[in-house]
Amino acid sequence: MKSARTIAAGAVTALALAGLSAPAVAKPGNNGNPNNAKKIAKAVTVDAVMDHLEAFQAIADEHGDRAAGNPGYEASAQYVESVLQGAGYETERQYFTFERETVLAESLVQNSPTQRDIDAIVMAYSPNTPEGGITANLAAPSGSALGCDAAAYEGADLTGQIALVSRGECAFSAKALAAAAVGAEAIVVYNNAPGALNGTLGGPGDYVPAAGITQADGQALLADMASGPVSVTLDLQVLVEEVDTFNIFAETAKGRADNVVMAGAHLDGVDGGPGINDNGSGSAALLETAVQLAKVNKLNNQVRFAWWGAEEHGLLGSWHYIEDLYANDPAALEDIATYLNFDMVASPNHIIGVYDADQSTYEAPVDVPEGSIETEAVFTDWFDSIGQPWVDTPFSGRSDYQPFITVGIPASGLFTGADGSKTAEEVALFGGTEGIMYDPNYHTPADDIDNINVEALDIMSDAIAVATLSLAQDTSAVNGERSAGKSGKPHPQGPVTGHDHEEAAA
Ligand SMILES: [Zn+2]
Repeated sequence: MKSARTIAAGAVTALALAGLSAPAVAKPGNNGNPNNAKKIAKAVTVDAVMDHLEAFQAIADEHGDRAAGNPGYEASAQYVESVLQGAGYETERQYFTFERETVLAESLVQNSPTQRDIDAIVMAYSPNTPEGGITANLAAPSGSALGCDAAAYEGADLTGQIALVSRGECAFSAKALAAAAVGAEAIVVYNNAPGALNGTLGGPGDYVPAAGITQADGQALLADMASGPVSVTLDLQVLVEEVDTFNIFAETAKGRADNVVMAGAHLDGVDGGPGINDNGSGSAALLETAVQLAKVNKLNNQVRFAWWGAEEHGLLGSWHYIEDLYANDPAALEDIATYLNFDMVASPNHIIGVYDADQSTYEAPVDVPEGSIETEAVFTDWFDSIGQPWVDTPFSGRSDYQPFITVGIPASGLFTGADGSKTAEEVALFGGTEGIMYDPNYHTPADDIDNINVEALDIMSDAIAVATLSLAQDTSAVNGERSAGKSGKPHPQGPVTGHDHEEAAA
């Protein structure tokens, strides 16, 4: 799964060293104290951000990917840490463990009356089949095709057979339990609409192995079953491992520690790809912002930078951070004035998007904490001041700001688009191609350095730096804080429970 670009081992080190030395040789006097919006936007150059992305690409070329728990993540972390340390920061790792699932096999082969391969997707929490798979005849419920309970099978005994049922009406877990209750060895669920069926059993349980197939494949199998027995081999093998990974933090030495501005980006990528737009881009832009912010002589509020781990596995690093503080140091949550999130800021078919905290375009599916609207305005005011068009993107909670807003911390962020489709209005504002994805290489091995829109990266890097500096100087619009002392702060709203780790994350 390596990308086409290859690079000799050792070049990574050279790149890392090049990145390391860059901040140290920045000329004082020129960008020596970038203490206003114009100066810090100038100090954060897109060339420097691209250098960080080249380093991430080299790491991905060497290690295959930059996914949580893999060597490419460790190498990415070391690169970020060395750049930060070169700029004078102390860095800190916060470790946590997670269960990583790797699909080793998910195949469904029809053996008779014709032989063919059918695309199947193993359901989350499915038990594995025995090695080599289960070979058995298919059996559909004789009552309801949905197979939601044992009654749907009307007394049939499916021992030694694999149940074939339709999606719909009840949870996949109910279908799997019903199939097990009538003796089935496994269950295959076909979709009730076009498209692949990527299902979950919702959690561990006493299930039989379960997989999803398309509606068309399900109907073809049912048609064959009408004229005689249909034998299939279902092979589902998922490796579950406990994996250690970590977040990285660095704080400015200056500024109030009781009114902290946090800014974060997930450093991990998906398995099997370089993860350069998602989310090398946010990580690199944030890194260069940290480097330049370190040169500002005076900050009223401390800035804490975060590079999150295991976002792609369900926002795990940011959830770990918030849950840990909630349990062990809740006062520290109250010290966070606001949180800025940067996840994909250089999409090839980009928009210039700002999380729509004021819900002027999109109704938010989550509670939007007080102060988020004012946080959004820091970005939009900057764009308006330089005549840069921008659009709203939904304040959806689908990235690392979700845990923050869950405990009532205001948030906003920037986004250039993922798997959505670009509209004509957006093309009029930003160019690009109507009707295709903002990032056609989203979560694929082709999300490499060539997948970066440098113009978007430049615009967003400046905005990241400007917003971070602005809030480091003043959060009064967000939380009423002007000088030392606590007042008007948002308070954590309630227990951190019920978050959905299954939710798709950008
Ligand atoms: Zn992402």
